Amino acid sequence: MSKSLPAWDLSDLYKSIKDPQIMMDIEKYRVSAKEFAEKYKGKLADLSADEFLELIKNIENRSLIAGRLGGFAYLNMVTQMKNTEAVGFYQQIEETLTDYAKPTVFFSVEFNALPQEKIDTWLKDGRIYEYRYWIKRVRKFKDYELSEPEERLLLEKSLTSGDAWVRLYEETSARLVYEVDGKKYNDAELSMLLLNKDADVRLKAGREMNRVLRENSHLLTFIYNMVIKDKAVEDEKRGFKTPISARNMSEDVSDESVEVLAQTVRKHYKDIAHRFYKLKAKWLGVEKINYWDRNAPLPFVEDTNYSWDEAVETVLDAYKEFSPKLYDIAKDFFVNQWIDVPPRDGKRSGAFCSGPLATEHPYLMLNFNGKQNDVLTLAHELGHGCHHQLRLKNGELNEHSRMTSEEVASVFGEMIVFQSMLRNMKDDKARLCLIASKVGDMINTAIRQIAFHFFELRAHNERRDGELTAERLSQIWQEEMRASLGDAVVVDADSADIWSMVGHFFFLPFYVYAYSYADCFVNSLYKVSQSGKVDNFADKYLEMLSKTALEDYSKILAPFGLNPEDADFWEYGLSLISSYIDELERLDAKIS
Ligand SMILES: [Zn+2]
Repeated sequence: MSKSLPAWDLSDLYKSIKDPQIMMDIEKYRVSAKEFAEKYKGKLADLSADEFLELIKNIENRSLIAGRLGGFAYLNMVTQMKNTEAVGFYQQIEETLTDYAKPTVFFSVEFNALPQEKIDTWLKDGRIYEYRYWIKRVRKFKDYELSEPEERLLLEKSLTSGDAWVRLYEETSARLVYEVDGKKYNDAELSMLLLNKDADVRLKAGREMNRVLRENSHLLTFIYNMVIKDKAVEDEKRGFKTPISARNMSEDVSDESVEVLAQTVRKHYKDIAHRFYKLKAKWLGVEKINYWDRNAPLPFVEDTNYSWDEAVETVLDAYKEFSPKLYDIAKDFFVNQWIDVPPRDGKRSGAFCSGPLATEHPYLMLNFNGKQNDVLTLAHELGHGCHHQLRLKNGELNEHSRMTSEEVASVFGEMIVFQSMLRNMKDDKARLCLIASKVGDMINTAIRQIAFHFFELRAHNERRDGELTAERLSQIWQEEMRASLGDAVVVDADSADIWSMVGHFFFLPFYVYAYSYADCFVNSLYKVSQSGKVDNFADKYLEMLSKTALEDYSKILAPFGLNPEDADFWEYGLSLISSYIDELERLDAKIS
């Protein structure tokens, strides 16, 4: 099957790792950074508006070059993690860029030492005002910046400290080999076995997953301890109060609002997750389901297999029905080769959208296996892609990724495709299966990620008193899993080591709650769209997406009558999930 599936074409970035333009750009980057330091270091306070604008352009150009180089190296690598040349190239680009950026480190420190009056004077110039969002963002960390030599040292050391641990984690995970019935699998392939209809296959795969992770738990535990400590050292030097503070601050969300989200979700573990898994156990004909059976297909599910073309059509049709404008943006991804579709040996598992440059189109990576879920994954990643396209006009520096809204367009995209699939389905059993699968996903996003959140919160807090053992991490993991999954799911030694499979714990600490944040955000928005209370919803929605990185959420959500500062906001979103479970209970009573 993989032969006929399209691969991406990265030539909009570079033709290959041998492209002569690469060396030219690296040199351009080096010279530009050197000139920047020579020209501006120690002189920021005296710059005229014209000079300051020139400085901004230098930063913007370097960001574009670095984005192109780093983005290409990364995308070129992820489809061939076993290709040492590709991996080496990525590492080399990263190191070179870090090295050449060193002379420019003075900038944010010196810039943030300037009085606000100076900034305000510059901002009076319309050309500089265009960059106001970027200026505001740089100034935001004013009080958390270190001296220039310290910043330089942190940057230089990052390659052999923080970044090195992440790299070791990624390379270790990519090399793990799982064996079921004498056949070897990578993690992505093994995860597929957990979706097998045969409970025995799932059992073997589930146990094997945990066995291999346990076998490697010494290394993975060591890496995780280092990731946490590395972050703690830096946080302390910068003056962040709690392990999550830096993340929340870069998101412009308060520690309190995230706490309210987490506690609200926790309060609903029972009426959402516990209730759902109880139904699931009934459908699977057991009293308790195994840990790895959470996403198992229902025994009476009709296997719907989608060809790639059918998947594309399903997704695009739903997008078009929601908004012809959104469709126009989405179709470009297929007309051009911006998506890497087939699973391959050595390719990273999962799916993502990556836009190395804010001013150019992004790329989508999938591992398409033709399942209903793969169609929803396409809808999801395409949502990310469209979100990126809607923001091209904001410019390289103003744009940034704000994780709490980064998942909004994607989850909304999934939702409209789901609804369109459901509308075309008349059979009760088929409807039950589709809703059950959607609810399973919603729980994985809104509920499970908060259970992950509590895991990492506890790990980071306990790490202050010393390294955590593999046993302790397993214990915390099991406690959080039990709390969130309820009595109908077996949580025991056979799933105790799965925590190390959650990549976000390693490469983006405290990212996981953003999934839940975004899911509740989307669910609330979706309820508004269904209520019919807002005219031209689709247009307003697209308009909102173009500003997610720039404006406060309370401002961009005002046209929908929503405000994330209200406690009810989270409850409203979660109530959509429980209404689907009500529907599942209704359908269940009808068919049994
Ligand atoms: Zn996503």
